[in-house]
Amino acid sequence: VVPEVPQDAPADDPVADVKISNRDRVIFPETGETKGELADYYAAIAPLMLPWAANRPVSLVRCPQGRGKKCFFQKHDSGSFGSHVHHVPITEKDGHAEDYLYVEDAAGLLTCVQMGTIEFHGWGARTSDVEAPDRLVIDLDPDEGLDFEDVKRAAKDFHDHLQDLGLASYAMLSGGKGVHVVVPLTPGHSWDEHKDFAKRFAEAMSMAEPDRFVANMSKAKRVGKIFIDYLRNQRGATAVLPYSARARAGAPVAVPVSWDELDGFPSAHEFSIRDSAKLLERAKSKALAGWGFAEQSLPNL
Ligand code: ATP
Ligand code: MN
Ligand code: MN
Repeated sequence: VVPEVPQDAPADDPVADVKISNRDRVIFPETGETKGELADYYAAIAPLMLPWAANRPVSLVRCPQGRGKKCFFQKHDSGSFGSHVHHVPITEKDGHAEDYLYVEDAAGLLTCVQMGTIEFHGWGARTSDVEAPDRLVIDLDPDEGLDFEDVKRAAKDFHDHLQDLGLASYAMLSGGKGVHVVVPLTPGHSWDEHKDFAKRFAEAMSMAEPDRFVANMSKAKRVGKIFIDYLRNQRGATAVLPYSARARAGAPVAVPVSWDELDGFPSAHEFSIRDSAKLLERAKSKALAGWGFAEQSLPNL
C-alpha cells in the first residue's frame, strides 16, 4: 500500500491560485492563530500530509468563524468548493449514491481551508476502490481522569499484541487526548471483515484486562478506563488524518511518532500549527522512516 504521492505537481507554486480571504481572522481564540497561519501550515505540511490525505474520501470539520463558534462535519459536496476539490460517488445503505469529497493536492487542502476547514478526517479506503479498506485505526480514548502515561502504555500493548499476530502498527498522537494505532493493510478484505477483526481484537483486549480497557460503547462502563473505539473501522467511518490540525485550544495537530519516541511525549497535543518547520525536519529522521507502511494482510482471528 504505497500511498500515491502526486508525481506531476507543477514546478511553480501549486497553491498560488487558491486565494485565502480574511487571513487575519482569528481561528484559535485561546492562542491567536489566524486563518492565514492555518493556510500557511497546510501549504507547508502538504508534502507530508498528502500521502495520507490524497485520494481518499474525507470529512471536513469546518469552523468558518473560528473554533470557538459553530463547527460542523461535512462529508458530502455542497457544490461550492470549486475545481480543486473532487467528488467520488459512494453508495449509501439505501442504495442511492452520494458524492463524497476528496482532494489530490495542496491546492485541494488549501481550498478546504479557504472554506473554513480546520480538520481533515479520512476513510480507511482510497477513492480507487472505496469498498476495499487499506488500514485499520485503533482509536484509544482515555476516560477523563486517566493519565497520558496510561494511554501510551495501552498503545504499546496494542502494538505488541498486533505484532504477535504478525501485524506492523504505527502510533499517532491525535492532537487531542488519545493515541491512534494505525495498521496499514493491503486491500483485499471487505469492510465487514475489517470491522469484525477490529471488534474481536478490541474485545479480546478488554476481556484480558477489564480494569484497563473497555470495548463497549456505553459511557457508564468507561469510568477510569481506556475505551477501544474499534468502530473507526466500519464502512463510512473516518479517523483524523496524519498532520491534520485539530479544532481544539492551542491549534494542535495529529502527529505520527515512532514507538521509541512515544515514551517521551507528555501529551497527545505536543505540536501545533506553528510547528510546521519542526514537523518537516522531524519527518526526515530515521525513527520515522517508513511510518505507516507495511505490506501485510488481515490475519484470521
Ligand atoms: P481524541 O484523541 O481526543 O479522542 P480523536 O480524533 O480520536 O481525538 P474521537 O472523538 O475519538 O477523536 O473520534 C475519533 C474519530 O471519529 C475522529 O477522528 C473522527 O474522524 C470521527 N468522528 C468523531 N466524531 C464524529 C462526528 N460527529 N461525525 C463524524 N465523524 C466523527
Ligand atoms: Mn480518539
Ligand atoms: Mn473515539
